[in-house]
Amino acid sequence: MTALNIILLGAPGSGKGTQAEQLCKQLELVHVSTGDIFRENLKNKTELGQLAQTYMNEGKLVPDDVTANMVRDRLAKPDVQKGFVLDGFPRTLPQAESLTDILNKLNSQIKAVIYIKVADEEIVSRLSGRRICRSCQKPYHVIFSPAAKEGVCDTCGGELYQRDDDNPTTVRARLTTYHQQTSPLVEYYTKAGLVVEIEGQGPVAEVIDRTLTAARQAAAK
Ligand SMILES: [Zn+2]
Repeated sequence: MTALNIILLGAPGSGKGTQAEQLCKQLELVHVSTGDIFRENLKNKTELGQLAQTYMNEGKLVPDDVTANMVRDRLAKPDVQKGFVLDGFPRTLPQAESLTDILNKLNSQIKAVIYIKVADEEIVSRLSGRRICRSCQKPYHVIFSPAAKEGVCDTCGGELYQRDDDNPTTVRARLTTYHQQTSPLVEYYTKAGLVVEIEGQGPVAEVIDRTLTAARQAAAK
């Protein structure tokens, strides 16, 4: 049996995290997120973690090869043998090419690239509705999980604010960058016959069903 290795693609606010969580829970896969890998390497002060830290200290982006080497080390661990859900990597075409090399060396391969599609305007309305408590950091959403009293935290009475990242202009700029980076990736994996597009709008339970179906079909291939 070959491992069910999946890449999840989706814009910020597309619900990728929820989908990753469900895939892992329902299909017993391991969630491999670059955020976690970074935190782990920084916390354990690995060689790669320390290298990444020097770039971050200078306010620079961590180079692709450093990130790719962290991913390589993670994917070489025995717990991912049944399969993994890769989230946050690759983000760019060179990263995708490194990933192919990494997996070839591990005698492994990607079974499916699940691309969660959500219209840009929907993303803008999802993200720009987010609010966070200044005191306790509790997250709210003006439509999906509003505070009982507008602008005030239910838990601690703190003031709710919108992160700079979530204001509509910033969200649109993030989406532009996202599309620029992602379209070559989608093209790369489409050529390999791996891309499955999932409609990411509508009730969450239905999106989860579509994602699970896509993953099961990939497993049966
Ligand atoms: Zn609070």
